[in-house]
Amino acid sequence: MKKGWFEHDTKKLAAMYGYQKPEQNGGSLKLDSNENYAIPKQFQGDIITHARKNSDVREYPLGGAERLVRAISKFLRMPPSMIGVGNGSDQILDIILGNFASKKTRVLTSNPTFGFFEQRCDLYSIPVISVPFSEHMELDAGDFESKFSRADILYLDSPNNPTGFQFPKKRLQGLVKSFNGLVIIDEAYGEFGDYGMSSMTKTHKNLIVVNTLSKSFGLAGLRLGYFVANPQFTDVFMRVLQYPYPLSTVTIESGIAALERPDTMRAAVNIIKSERERIIRTLRTYHSFDVFDSKANFVLFDAHGAYGRIYSALAEQGISVRKLGKIGPHRGCLRVSIGTKEMNSKFLLAVRDLLE
Ligand SMILES: *Cc1c(COP(=O)(O)O)cnc(C)c1O
Repeated sequence: MKKGWFEHDTKKLAAMYGYQKPEQNGGSLKLDSNENYAIPKQFQGDIITHARKNSDVREYPLGGAERLVRAISKFLRMPPSMIGVGNGSDQILDIILGNFASKKTRVLTSNPTFGFFEQRCDLYSIPVISVPFSEHMELDAGDFESKFSRADILYLDSPNNPTGFQFPKKRLQGLVKSFNGLVIIDEAYGEFGDYGMSSMTKTHKNLIVVNTLSKSFGLAGLRLGYFVANPQFTDVFMRVLQYPYPLSTVTIESGIAALERPDTMRAAVNIIKSERERIIRTLRTYHSFDVFDSKANFVLFDAHGAYGRIYSALAEQGISVRKLGKIGPHRGCLRVSIGTKEMNSKFLLAVRDLLE
């Protein structure tokens, strides 16, 4: 190795952006990270109390991941041998990319897709082939198929972040069936959408379905992700690739308690789905916006020339939304997460005041 290589490599990495986290503005109405506030605060109180009673953090969480896997297995009605866990689904995606992708494998995905995933491909110099969204913020399955022969890995968020688009079920099943390489379906927002794909892992060995407790269960701070895949891959992932203790005891025990209360999650998801329709309907009354359909817990809209002004004026009032700017032919995109009824009403009132 040449002298100074470490300094040189550090400098090279310093030029990269890394994942762009939202700004931290204190006391704000946080509608920028697709967190779930519709889930009662009491819920996390309950599961953390449970975790506290069942944890001894002097010890490594020996056997903890296995117990969590059994809880997920019961929740999904899928065999435990097909379920793996990670420190957020971010870490699961990172391990998959780090071990199955390289400069020589091409990833086929949409543009845009999950920001962290794009950033990771960039970091590892993994070539990406991307399919753009249409003017109506939809993807065309044929556009993907025409690029299949050039790709080794297909990665799709279903529903997509940041557009909220989800393929009709048959379409996505068709894509999975006809692709020969590795397929990663990211269902971080799956519970807010029309369907899930995990049962297809029983018949398709090249399919990994990734999910998380961050969005539907409102536990982003817990850092708990999981995946469903064929037993051979799952075994390799958990035994060889994953860290010996990827999740803290507190995370494991809280996660188990959360999964025993799926009805709380489902009630929050139902509130968010009906609020989603209210936000879309209300934003559509402003003819200066293009508001896109969404199957997730957020809504994307193009505010055109007014977008910079709207973003800043909302921020001044303590309302944070995600500023995305140009997506395909749309130049002024903003993404607003769906909060509680009260939060959403505040957001909608603020927009109304800005436009009138
Ligand atoms: C939020 C998000 C994740 C991240 O999940 P964590 O489990 O919190 O790491 C994964 N994929 C997509 C598409 C997301 O939007």
